[in-house]
Amino acid sequence: MTPFICNHDGSCDDVRLCCAETEMTLTREDAERIDSLGYSRSEYLVREEDGFCELRNVDGFCYFYDTESKLCRIYEHRPEGCRYYPIVYHAKKRKCVTDGDCPSRSTVSRDEIRGVCHRVRRLIEKLQQEAATREGPC
Ligand code: SF4
Repeated sequence: MTPFICNHDGSCDDVRLCCAETEMTLTREDAERIDSLGYSRSEYLVREEDGFCELRNVDGFCYFYDTESKLCRIYEHRPEGCRYYPIVYHAKKRKCVTDGDCPSRSTVSRDEIRGVCHRVRRLIEKLQQEAATREGPC
Protein backbone atom coordinates (compact mmCIF):
# COMPACT_ATOMS: atom_id res chain seq x y z
CA MET A 1 0.00 0.00 0.00
CA THR A 2 1.68 3.20 -1.14
CA PRO A 3 -1.07 5.73 -1.83
CA PHE A 4 1.28 8.66 -2.15
CA ILE A 5 5.00 8.93 -2.80
CA CYS A 6 6.75 12.08 -1.68
CA ASN A 7 8.28 13.65 -4.78
CA HIS A 8 10.77 15.69 -2.81
CA ASP A 9 12.98 17.96 -4.86
CA GLY A 10 16.24 17.53 -2.98
CA SER A 11 15.67 20.41 -0.57
CA CYS A 12 15.51 17.94 2.31
CA ASP A 13 18.51 15.83 1.31
CA ASP A 14 20.63 17.01 4.24
CA VAL A 15 18.08 16.27 6.91
CA ARG A 16 14.72 14.63 6.41
CA LEU A 17 12.69 17.02 8.52
CA CYS A 18 9.68 14.73 8.31
CA CYS A 19 11.57 12.24 10.48
CA ALA A 20 12.96 14.86 12.91
CA GLU A 21 11.09 15.60 16.15
CA THR A 22 8.26 13.56 14.75
CA GLU A 23 4.81 13.65 16.28
CA MET A 24 3.54 10.84 14.08
CA THR A 25 0.64 8.94 15.60
CA LEU A 26 0.17 5.23 14.97
CA THR A 27 -2.91 3.09 14.58
CA ARG A 28 -3.15 -0.34 16.22
CA GLU A 29 -2.61 -1.86 12.79
CA ASP A 30 0.60 0.18 12.32
CA ALA A 31 1.90 -1.02 15.69
CA GLU A 32 1.02 -4.65 14.94
CA ARG A 33 2.83 -4.47 11.61
CA ILE A 34 5.96 -3.02 13.24
CA ASP A 35 5.77 -5.48 16.15
CA SER A 36 5.87 -8.31 13.61
CA LEU A 37 9.34 -7.10 12.57
CA GLY A 38 10.57 -7.86 16.08
CA TYR A 39 10.42 -4.39 17.64
CA SER A 40 8.99 -3.85 21.09
CA ARG A 41 6.37 -1.11 21.55
CA SER A 42 8.03 0.14 24.69
CA GLU A 43 11.09 0.96 22.54
CA TYR A 44 9.45 2.84 19.72
CA LEU A 45 6.12 4.16 21.03
CA VAL A 46 5.17 6.83 23.52
CA ARG A 47 1.66 7.08 24.94
CA GLU A 48 0.43 10.66 25.12
CA GLU A 49 -1.92 11.84 27.87
CA ASP A 50 -4.81 12.05 25.41
CA GLY A 51 -4.43 8.36 24.56
CA PHE A 52 -2.59 8.75 21.24
CA CYS A 53 0.46 6.56 20.59
CA GLU A 54 3.30 8.47 18.94
CA LEU A 55 6.64 7.41 17.54
CA ARG A 56 9.44 7.90 20.05
CA ASN A 57 12.19 10.40 19.20
CA VAL A 58 15.80 9.60 20.02
CA ASP A 59 18.32 12.45 19.87
CA GLY A 60 15.83 14.51 17.91
CA PHE A 61 14.87 11.92 15.32
CA CYS A 62 12.29 9.21 14.97
CA TYR A 63 13.36 5.94 16.58
CA PHE A 64 13.42 4.36 13.10
CA TYR A 65 15.41 7.06 11.31
CA ASP A 66 18.96 6.08 10.47
CA THR A 67 21.02 9.27 10.76
CA GLU A 68 23.90 7.81 8.74
CA SER A 69 22.02 6.58 5.70
CA LYS A 70 19.26 9.20 6.21
CA LEU A 71 16.73 6.51 5.53
CA CYS A 72 13.82 4.99 7.38
CA ARG A 73 14.77 1.56 8.76
CA ILE A 74 11.23 0.26 8.35
CA TYR A 75 10.29 2.11 5.16
CA GLU A 76 8.19 -0.70 3.63
CA HIS A 77 6.34 -1.08 6.92
CA ARG A 78 6.20 2.57 8.01
CA PRO A 79 3.06 3.97 9.67
CA GLU A 80 0.19 5.01 7.45
CA GLY A 81 0.60 8.69 8.38
CA CYS A 82 4.24 8.63 7.19
CA ARG A 83 2.99 7.40 3.80
CA TYR A 84 0.85 10.51 3.30
CA TYR A 85 3.31 13.07 4.59
CA PRO A 86 3.60 16.02 3.82
CA ILE A 87 -0.15 15.80 3.21
CA VAL A 88 -1.81 16.32 6.59
CA TYR A 89 -5.29 17.18 7.85
CA HIS A 90 -5.82 20.74 9.08
CA ALA A 91 -8.48 20.40 11.76
CA LYS A 92 -9.42 24.10 11.92
CA LYS A 93 -9.67 24.50 8.14
CA ARG A 94 -11.23 21.04 7.91
CA LYS A 95 -9.26 20.14 4.84
CA CYS A 96 -6.05 18.47 3.73
CA VAL A 97 -3.04 20.69 3.29
CA THR A 98 0.72 20.24 2.94
CA ASP A 99 2.68 20.63 6.17
CA GLY A 100 4.32 24.05 6.33
CA ASP A 101 7.48 22.50 7.84
CA CYS A 102 8.22 20.43 4.74
CA PRO A 103 10.75 22.14 2.43
CA SER A 104 9.46 20.16 -0.58
CA ARG A 105 5.78 20.86 0.04
CA SER A 106 5.46 22.92 -3.16
CA THR A 107 6.16 19.77 -5.21
CA VAL A 108 2.84 18.27 -4.08
CA SER A 109 0.05 19.00 -6.53
CA ARG A 110 -3.58 19.76 -5.70
CA ASP A 111 -4.53 16.56 -7.49
CA GLU A 112 -2.21 14.56 -5.24
CA ILE A 113 -3.76 16.16 -2.16
CA ARG A 114 -7.27 15.51 -3.45
CA GLY A 115 -6.32 11.94 -4.33
CA VAL A 116 -5.42 10.91 -0.79
CA CYS A 117 -7.44 13.30 1.37
CA HIS A 118 -10.28 10.84 1.96
CA ARG A 119 -7.73 8.33 3.27
CA VAL A 120 -6.12 10.94 5.50
CA ARG A 121 -9.53 11.85 6.96
CA ARG A 122 -10.31 8.19 7.56
CA LEU A 123 -6.97 7.76 9.28
CA ILE A 124 -7.64 10.74 11.60
CA GLU A 125 -11.04 9.31 12.52
CA LYS A 126 -9.52 5.93 13.28
CA LEU A 127 -6.75 7.45 15.41
CA GLN A 128 -9.29 9.49 17.38
CA GLN A 129 -11.51 6.47 17.95
CA GLU A 130 -8.63 4.32 19.10
CA ALA A 131 -7.27 7.04 21.41
CA ALA A 132 -10.70 7.55 22.99
CA THR A 133 -11.04 3.88 23.85
CA ARG A 134 -7.45 3.16 24.77
CA GLU A 135 -6.80 1.99 28.29
CA GLY A 136 -3.31 1.28 29.49
CA PRO A 137 -0.12 1.46 27.44
CA CYS A 138 0.07 1.53 23.65
S1 SF4 B 1 8.72 5.65 10.69
FE1 SF4 B 1 10.21 6.06 9.08
S2 SF4 B 1 9.21 7.51 7.68
FE2 SF4 B 1 8.06 7.53 9.62
S3 SF4 B 1 8.96 9.25 10.82
FE3 SF4 B 1 10.03 7.34 11.38
S4 SF4 B 1 11.87 7.25 10.08
FE4 SF4 B 1 10.42 8.72 9.17
